[in-house]
Amino acid sequence: MIIWPPFSALDPVELTGTIRDDRLIGLRRTAATARTILDGRAVVHVNATATGGGVAEMLPTLLGYARGFGIGTRWAVVGGGPEFFRVTKRLHNHLHGHPGDAGPLDHAERLVYERVLADAGHDLLPELGSDDIVVLHDPQTLGLAPLLAGRGIRTVWRCHIGIDRSNGTSRRAWRFLRPYLAEVDRFVFSRAAFRPPTIPVERTRIITPTLDPLSAKNSPLPMDSARAMLAQAGLLQPGSGAAAAYRRRDGSLGRVRRRAEVVQSGPPPAPDQPLVVQVSRWDRLKDMPGVMIGFAEHVAPRTPAHLVLAGPMVSGVSDDPEGAAEFQRCVDIWHHLPPDQRERIHLACLPVTDVEENAALVNALQRQATVVAQKSLAEGFGLTVLEAMWKGRPVVASAIGGIRDQIRDRESGLLLPDPYDLAGFGRLIRRLVQDPRLAESIGRGAADRAAEFLPDRSLMAWAELIGGIADPEPAALCAATRAG
Ligand code: UDP
Repeated sequence: MIIWPPFSALDPVELTGTIRDDRLIGLRRTAATARTILDGRAVVHVNATATGGGVAEMLPTLLGYARGFGIGTRWAVVGGGPEFFRVTKRLHNHLHGHPGDAGPLDHAERLVYERVLADAGHDLLPELGSDDIVVLHDPQTLGLAPLLAGRGIRTVWRCHIGIDRSNGTSRRAWRFLRPYLAEVDRFVFSRAAFRPPTIPVERTRIITPTLDPLSAKNSPLPMDSARAMLAQAGLLQPGSGAAAAYRRRDGSLGRVRRRAEVVQSGPPPAPDQPLVVQVSRWDRLKDMPGVMIGFAEHVAPRTPAHLVLAGPMVSGVSDDPEGAAEFQRCVDIWHHLPPDQRERIHLACLPVTDVEENAALVNALQRQATVVAQKSLAEGFGLTVLEAMWKGRPVVASAIGGIRDQIRDRESGLLLPDPYDLAGFGRLIRRLVQDPRLAESIGRGAADRAAEFLPDRSLMAWAELIGGIADPEPAALCAATRAG
């Protein structure tokens, strides 16, 4: 099954003022060249969920601007049952070097994987022109490559995950994926270290993820509105009585109406209490339990801070079958904490019915946070880190994967060398909670650094990549870009 989520063209002019003029001019020129080379052919992106997680977060921006530049752009989402997503989640965990549910990746799993993608391919192929270019995202969709290649359709595989040093578990996933890799034209990774040696470097491009500065998640938000939204959702004690309102991506006014489902034993934090926040899907690799225990043992006894662990309602991310179990694991651990620590820890499932309301609540939480944590055990990039940095928040994050590309330790955040070191985690959090001047100066460094990850960078890289694939003469795009 395939669905086609709607997304709107975004006008690149709106980036004026946020992105330097010379960069915008360069982008406009490259996009125009790619459009000419594509000559009406479409670029079709395929992934496995329309909401939840970093990929679904980035696609509407990337695709919206591409469409805004006049490039034919479409977005398809592959549906699959629980069996399929159990296999793809296992692949996801394995590519991060973790065994996940410890299940196999053998013949039976391959049959499930290929059956679902054969069905998806059956629905997708009639929608495609033979000279369209298809961008497949992550392992969930890679298995479509042979079907597409069989029709002469050129493909890019955009892999958002990986680990810096392969292990037996990650190699098992790569063995599973090998037959499909052979049919891909170009590869895109977030970091060079994620490319396995079997994928040719000359057909690989590294494209660092970027954030959308104008989305409901990242656009400026007055603190009294942020607090009113959090109070409306039940995440903060009521304050000034300001409207719980935010700007939607199309400029219209949105209001937070729904409440979060919060597991807590005391009142929500007061607006002036120090707050530590981690926002993540309920995923083992985000280590929400580790954040909670580290906070309970090493932060709560020595500071007045509260902790909010926030993730989507557990039914909200269609390609993530482990969310409900992981959330339950957090609740079980929370129940066993001493009452005075439990009282300051809040487990929040954010409403997901309206994606922009969810985004606005994340925006508000990140802004209200004294410190944002991202104590992941593995991370392809970690968009939540960039989102918090963009808002000038000091972040304590594991020194792993794509997080290391974002934070310069002690300049634009604090890096935790060993993500399993709970005492070390607590120490870093305490330093920022107890030293507001340090927190402020790291927050300033974070905002400066985040400005290097604005969407023109990734749009430029994609325009070059797609133009290069569409044109049989590889030098043409560069020459045309220079001449334009
Ligand atoms: N996110 C969200 N609502 C939630 C939890 C997460 O919008 O309740 C977003 C978060 O703001 C970020 C994305 O999901 O934009 C997560 O991306 P990241 O790269 O950090 O991790 P992934 O989920 O892709 O592993």
